[in-house]
Amino acid sequence: MSEKKIIIAIDGHSSCGKSTMAKSLAKKLGYVYIDTGAMYRVVTLVALRNGWLKNKVPDNNKVIASLKDIKITFKWDEQLGKNTTFLNGENVEDKIRQLEVSENVSPISTIAEVRYEMVRQQRENGKAKGIVMDGRDIGTVVFPNAELKIFMTASPKIRAQRRFDELTAKGDDVNFKEILANVEGRDKIDSTRAASPLKQANDALLLDNSNITREEQLEWTINKVKGITGEK
Ligand code: C5P
Repeated sequence: MSEKKIIIAIDGHSSCGKSTMAKSLAKKLGYVYIDTGAMYRVVTLVALRNGWLKNKVPDNNKVIASLKDIKITFKWDEQLGKNTTFLNGENVEDKIRQLEVSENVSPISTIAEVRYEMVRQQRENGKAKGIVMDGRDIGTVVFPNAELKIFMTASPKIRAQRRFDELTAKGDDVNFKEILANVEGRDKIDSTRAASPLKQANDALLLDNSNITREEQLEWTINKVKGITGEK
């Protein structure tokens, strides 16, 4: 791949395969991959463990005060071929993917101070180019000057089915209707919140993957990267 390194921002709706695409892309390009959703999930896990969420309403002051004690790191797990997320050195990768966290993460991510701190850390990570970052506000807020921005989506039913398959494959006892409600609920909160709502950046390319394969979307994206870096 080319010597010219760029920042690739991938935003979009919940469960539309952003992280799968971002990971494959990073691997193919030899770039660093950063999953910003995992960071909001870690903050949510801390709030749940401490009882700071009542009926999906967070105690904002307590969450904000805890931010200074939350250290989020990622490690590449060779064996599993995926990123693992750590909270103060504890491996929380599986815990942050559970439905209870998914159900509470959007309210946590509406807190402006939480966003401010996460964005600060994300920009730190992106100082050296050659990164693929996925989330909701990467192309609009975190890296408005990213060389390549992609906005991914797929129909809510298809997204819920994919999440359902993923969780049942892990052995989780889940209900399709609950997952669909979670996907639609998160879309709503993420798109309508006051602080950095989810929206397609003016210069982002739209990728609806409802009816295309992972391989096709990766190829499409690699071609866009080549168009920017000049690689044949
Ligand atoms: O990407 P993932 O589904 O793991 O993200 C979990 C939640 O974190 C999203 O539903 C959204 O509320 C929040 N999030 C965000 N901004 C980001 C990434 C995720 O608000 N950049």
